[in-house]
Amino acid sequence: MAYYDPLTDLPNRRLLEKLIKKEFSSMQRYGYETVIIILDIDNFKYINDTYGHPVGDNILRQLADLLKSNVRESDTVSRFGGEEFIILMPKTSVEGGYAFAERLRKIIMEKSFNIGSITLQITSSFGVSSMRNMTSQSLEDYYFLADKALYLAKQSGKNRVERAYERAGMEDTCERVARVSE
Ligand code: GH3
Ligand code: MG
Ligand code: MG
Repeated sequence: MAYYDPLTDLPNRRLLEKLIKKEFSSMQRYGYETVIIILDIDNFKYINDTYGHPVGDNILRQLADLLKSNVRESDTVSRFGGEEFIILMPKTSVEGGYAFAERLRKIIMEKSFNIGSITLQITSSFGVSSMRNMTSQSLEDYYFLADKALYLAKQSGKNRVERAYERAGMEDTCERVARVSE
């Protein structure tokens, strides 16, 4: 099970990296666009600190199921680490990915997570980027742009979706991030 996360049964980062490389080649070969979405639960440390780690684990499992039931069969939901998930959406534009992330954001925000006698609600922040902005040299850093967009979403107050702009190179995106954090 070296390719699956034992807590959520989702593909882990290792498997995601293999799928990304494969997806990058077919994207280039067939000329379509693929989108990467990073989702990070807001204030998750607070949930662990307040209700305990097992409750946090239970939320991660329920969220994984929620994500799986909301994506298309051709999409991949993976647990990237901790309370972060990456969704890979082949044949999707950044606009399409943004709209999807926005829909997910609302679904998550409105869901009640029942754990024993406790009912909790969570919010999450998202970064959306296109694989079209990547080169085979930058493939090691496939999450770089989506992560910058996620950072913007957190800086702008959380429970938000931000996208990395298609024409912006990595430098432009970094400048925007720097400006926001000033
Ligand atoms: P932010 O809104 O900025 O994302 O804040 P945050 O509290 O979500 O982020 P931070 O990085 O400070 O904390 C992440 C927390 O996620 C801390 C860590 O203990 C928890 N976490 C990571 N992996 C697991 C896990 O497998 N199970 C549980 N229960 N908690 C986890
Ligand atoms: Mg995090
Ligand atoms: Mg978080």
